[in-house]
Amino acid sequence: MEKGRESPKHESKGRRLVLFPIPLQGHMNPMLQLANILHATGFFSITIIHTHFNSPTISNYPHFTFCPIPDGLSETESEASTSDSVALLSLLNTNCVAAFRDCLAGLVLSGVEDEAKEPTACLITDAIWHFSQSVADSLEIPRIVLRTSSLSSFLAFAALPLLLEKGYLPKQDSQLESPVLELPPLKVKDLPTISTRNHEVFYKLIGSMVKETKASSGIIWNSMEDLEQSTLATVRQVFPVPSFPIGPFHNYFPASSSSLLAQDKSSISWLDTRPPKSVLYVSFGSIASMDEAEFLEMAWGLANSGQPFLWVVRPGLVRGSKWLEPLPSGFMETNGGRGYIVKWAPQQEVLAHPATGGFWTHNGWNSTLESICEGVPMICSPCFGDQMVNARYVSNVWRIGLQFESGMERGVVEKAIRRLMVEKEGEEERERILCLKEKVGFCLKQGGSSHHYLESLISYILSF
Ligand code: UDP
Repeated sequence: MEKGRESPKHESKGRRLVLFPIPLQGHMNPMLQLANILHATGFFSITIIHTHFNSPTISNYPHFTFCPIPDGLSETESEASTSDSVALLSLLNTNCVAAFRDCLAGLVLSGVEDEAKEPTACLITDAIWHFSQSVADSLEIPRIVLRTSSLSSFLAFAALPLLLEKGYLPKQDSQLESPVLELPPLKVKDLPTISTRNHEVFYKLIGSMVKETKASSGIIWNSMEDLEQSTLATVRQVFPVPSFPIGPFHNYFPASSSSLLAQDKSSISWLDTRPPKSVLYVSFGSIASMDEAEFLEMAWGLANSGQPFLWVVRPGLVRGSKWLEPLPSGFMETNGGRGYIVKWAPQQEVLAHPATGGFWTHNGWNSTLESICEGVPMICSPCFGDQMVNARYVSNVWRIGLQFESGMERGVVEKAIRRLMVEKEGEEERERILCLKEKVGFCLKQGGSSHHYLESLISYILSF
């Protein structure tokens, strides 16, 4: 299992791995990171099948082969993608079937008929590409699933049919604070739901994802046994296929370059001018959105806290606005240079910067992991899907952040920022997250759990 460590770069590759990412930022990043991890072992060549929509920046990966497939999305559907990701993902699972099958069949066949080409060892797809299991079955190649969320949130997704049956869902306002007895420590409000035009489509998509994950040959997780130990035992019962928690992916290599948006590097030079641990970094990821009133409460909470902040306001973050129009004129000036706003930041570098002292996040799983790995305590504002589960674990299980439990009114925001950045509570959270950072940092080292699971994953794939 030492091949890559002796001669990691370009040698002739024995087996081909075909990877198929979901074209959303939070899914694309981990899949491309996984591709790099597996390539660096020296055992595999990498072929990425990808949709035209949100296609990766191919020039950043000269060591991979890329196969684009048509996704059948009209311009309007692509534009609407972030406002209803359930509709988008469901549509893609229908639109891509034929093109994906043809592409994969061609790759598999070329490895069989042409001796100069590597044989395909297996297919690795995002769990959301549920249709790909039947394609893999029909071509008789194993499919391993990449699940880009935490193990705990995937268990919550898997439990949705039961929770519907038991009446926890749809969520009733009067029940939001009630505990979900089957999934401690979750409350009803933490269950992974999402606003979409048609909830039936959501439950169907999740049901298919769970069913086809159970039918797969294994699951790769961007998480760590040391972080989710007891959950891993339950996952093994619910999904009786081999599980490989080999995260955190982004820590195998220096900061990744799979950003779908241009990263504003001026954030780093701005951070360079600030004292250590003084800046609150604020970002809600690539999909979450809010209305103008919420945005203004955030803005005034940030301003009134008196703390320096670096704020990612993605175009599209505020529904109905192009960018910063809702901010009152002169807002930035009233902050006396304490605030800096960009459209998209090099997040991993920002979190690793000595000036960054806190992260106000939507708790997408990548953001949560990145924050843990840099030891930056969090303020949690989960918006949809798995984010509520991640936030509950951050605030109640790992106790490395605080969560807004009922709305984000400016006075509450201001207090929360002070609690995290300057008060004792924040100091305690910082101490706990620094311990966790150390524990998680060990996972990738010789003798660490992720290191061990990566070795088993390689042996497993080579056994196909
Ligand atoms: N990200 C970034 N710049 C930003 C905001 C986010 O590079 O300004 C990256 C972040 O590092 C993470 C990903 O985008 O890897 C967001 O994934 P996550 O799962 O946190 O949230 P999602 O975008 O899927 O909601």
